[in-house]
Amino acid sequence: MNSNNHANHVKVLVLGSGPAGLSAALYAARAELAPVVLTGIQLGGQAALTYTIENYPGFPEGVGGAQLGELFQKQAEHFGAKVEFDTASEVDLSKRPFSVKTENGGYVADSIIISTGADPNKLNIPGEEKLTGRGVSYCATCDGWFFKDKKVIIVGGGDSALEEGLFITRYASSVTVIHRREEFRASAILQDRAKEHPKMNFILNTVVTEVLGDEKVEAVRLKNAQSGAETIFETDGVFIFIGHTPNTQMFKGQLEMDKLGYLKVDDRMQTSKPGVFAAGEAADPHFRQVVTSAGMGAAAAIQATHFLEAESS
Ligand code: NAP
Repeated sequence: MNSNNHANHVKVLVLGSGPAGLSAALYAARAELAPVVLTGIQLGGQAALTYTIENYPGFPEGVGGAQLGELFQKQAEHFGAKVEFDTASEVDLSKRPFSVKTENGGYVADSIIISTGADPNKLNIPGEEKLTGRGVSYCATCDGWFFKDKKVIIVGGGDSALEEGLFITRYASSVTVIHRREEFRASAILQDRAKEHPKMNFILNTVVTEVLGDEKVEAVRLKNAQSGAETIFETDGVFIFIGHTPNTQMFKGQLEMDKLGYLKVDDRMQTSKPGVFAAGEAADPHFRQVVTSAGMGAAAAIQATHFLEAESS
């Protein structure tokens, strides 16, 4: 990798523009480190795809995910952060300054804050890939509107499944949650809201084994997890919310990570490589909230500031 030539040299390069990345940028900008943020594919990260965020403090009525992302961006830019619509494709962390190749060029950076987030998991069942965008979706805010007066299913039993399912009730005629166990992982408040909603139905102890349809989704094949009995369930849409996988493949072999791919950080957001910090879902298998990601981003930037200061003194 030869990204040193013609690359921009920055003190702090932030990879990703979700709550972690933009909070890191805010703190690094206020420390006058002129951070550059590479947005990645989704400005605002996954949070920007959420219709309403009700648990980010300071917004008692809730706030739109995209709107919150824009506010984060504005605030970071106000203090001098530069947000570039670009994506890192390759990194070399073997020596400093670190090299980062991007879609549009490259950077060398004295320190890096990794906040590349996570992508939705797939069921990996027949028909899923073929019918993605034709009834199979991983984003209610993006695709819910297409299911006006249609029947949809939601796969999963966590907060995302119930929250996104409730969101789709504003369009769909019925929303059936299909969950592989009896108990939900989702918070009690979401379970209560979902159970009380007249458009929501539940099929428990059941897995989806196939998505059926030629040009678009027509039905799913279900299997009862206890009896093994199979049924066909007609539906127009299949929304899948079964967790996420961190976007850390690029750092394999260069940074320590756990077996699921989450970057290992110490209590100061420091990865296994001095000068490389990580924040948000890329390094957080536990909390994965907007507020915790933003907090990790701030902490990573504070620590990056100390790291760079210690070098220059
Ligand atoms: P999650 O909490 O990991 O839940 C994933 C769900 O998918 C679980 O119910 C799991 O079943 C199920 N699942 C996993 N793999 C499956 C498979 N192959 N087939 C069928 N089902 C499968 O993920 P999440 O809902 O995306 O939430 C991620 C994090 O974000 C959590 O910490 C959550 O609290 C947070 N979040 C919070 C909010 C909020 O506070 N409003 C909203 C969204 C997300 P099992 O239960 O059987 O494992």
